[in-house]
Amino acid sequence: MNDTNVDAAEIAKFSALAHKWWDPDSEFKPLHDINPARLDLIERHAGIAGQRILDVGCGGGILSEAMAARGGEVTGIDLAEKSLKIAKLHLFESGQKVDYRNIAVETLAGEVPQSFDVVTCMEMLEHVPDASSIINACAQLAKPGGWVFFSTLNRNPKSYLLAVLGAEYVLGLLPRGTHDYTRFLKPSELARMTRAAGLETIEVAGMHYNPFSRAVSLDRDASVNYLAACRKPA
Ligand code: SAH
Repeated sequence: MNDTNVDAAEIAKFSALAHKWWDPDSEFKPLHDINPARLDLIERHAGIAGQRILDVGCGGGILSEAMAARGGEVTGIDLAEKSLKIAKLHLFESGQKVDYRNIAVETLAGEVPQSFDVVTCMEMLEHVPDASSIINACAQLAKPGGWVFFSTLNRNPKSYLLAVLGAEYVLGLLPRGTHDYTRFLKPSELARMTRAAGLETIEVAGMHYNPFSRAVSLDRDASVNYLAACRKPA
């Protein structure tokens, strides 16, 4: 159990923006825009309807709600209370049902291991001090035969240029300081951590986002943003 794997400055950053989670033209625009593509990847591998799903680092619930809308039985967890409040409020507007909780994933893994058919942890690993601790907890929470999905940012000059300089400093898509480059993970590093957690990587997909056209595509080029679909052996 570990409640200390959290960066208070990160939580404060997201709390300060919490009222904007559901504004599709806000700093969260990229997350709204990439949502359909990542949903499709989850659907293609694991299926969503009728699955018991945990969304780790759910924020205002952009992904959690969309999975609930597709028939998933979704629990969303985060450590930013303000974001969880916004997520809960939005359920009144959407009419969806999601169980939102303020709890560390490591703590939940101690409480209810092997409980979820699907665990998602998107755009979150690059905000925590110890990614492997989060990955281990996600793996513990999945049922044998269950799926675990991660997405994060690769660490190389191109990702620094696009995700930090481009997005934060040139285009102003994201507030300056949103991303700490040193916490970005190379696919090989993520693969090492997921393997150590007992997961098998089934697919790594590069995710490309054009902020001008708002178009999103998935392919094999994982040089900037990428998703990993992993399976826990049955
Ligand atoms: N997964 C969502 C939100 C990504 S933003 C999506 O992709 O749409 C990153 C989120 O991770 C924020 O909501 C932030 O509060 C959360 N977060 C950061 N550190 C965390 C930690 N240690 N435990 C849980 N959530 C954390």
